[in-house]
Amino acid sequence: MRYAILADIHANLAAFTAVLEAIKREGGVEELWCLGDIVGYGPDPHECIELLRQYKHVCVAGNHDWAAIGKIDTSDFNPAAAAAAHWTTGQLTPQDVDYLSKLPLTIEKDDFTLAHGSPREPIWEYLLSVSSAGENFVHFNTKFCLVGHSHVPLIFKQTETSGCSFASFKAGDRLVLAENRLIINPGGVGQPRDGDPRASYAIYDSDNRVIQLYRIPYNIGVTQSRMMQHKLPLRLIVRLSYGM
Ligand code: ZN
Repeated sequence: MRYAILADIHANLAAFTAVLEAIKREGGVEELWCLGDIVGYGPDPHECIELLRQYKHVCVAGNHDWAAIGKIDTSDFNPAAAAAAHWTTGQLTPQDVDYLSKLPLTIEKDDFTLAHGSPREPIWEYLLSVSSAGENFVHFNTKFCLVGHSHVPLIFKQTETSGCSFASFKAGDRLVLAENRLIINPGGVGQPRDGDPRASYAIYDSDNRVIQLYRIPYNIGVTQSRMMQHKLPLRLIVRLSYGM
């Protein structure tokens, strides 16, 4: 079976659609595994929720999903993110709010735990260092963990000595699952932050025990003009061009 691992769609319908089309071209998947932040930052929050719900999928809650429905306040957000979160709230239908409010913090699928930020602190914690990632291996029971939130594709590996090593995860890389426990981030669909503006996602092939990373170009200008139309913060519009 093949499963698509998607994180941080962030209401970017052009990016999400491009990813879904690429997945279909590659033969499709059994299920989408979504790591949260469906909404926030981007111009099409309702459309992205609706599109995701048309597919067989599971999804955990992200900080932007909770902010959009008032489950957390935006005082810890930067001003541009907070402005976009408030705008997002006004775009959601009652069905969208109901859907977002029921997203769990973590989900276990096969050998994987899914969480937005980290298994220890699913809503808020960023896993960008070997020290914080290393501490998180005791916070999940499965062999592997999938996270989003940082929008940076990467792999943390628990070493034989219970330490932690780090590797970047680049387009075309095929990660063969073996003995070591791993925490894997597939990068962001709708707002990549590793300097590559292309949408990032991964496919897990359970027969071959391989996770492959993909980068897909999409029409960034379409998303940017939609954001201009809705007067979303300029900083959020510009960063899409640079993947930062
Ligand atoms: Zn995010």
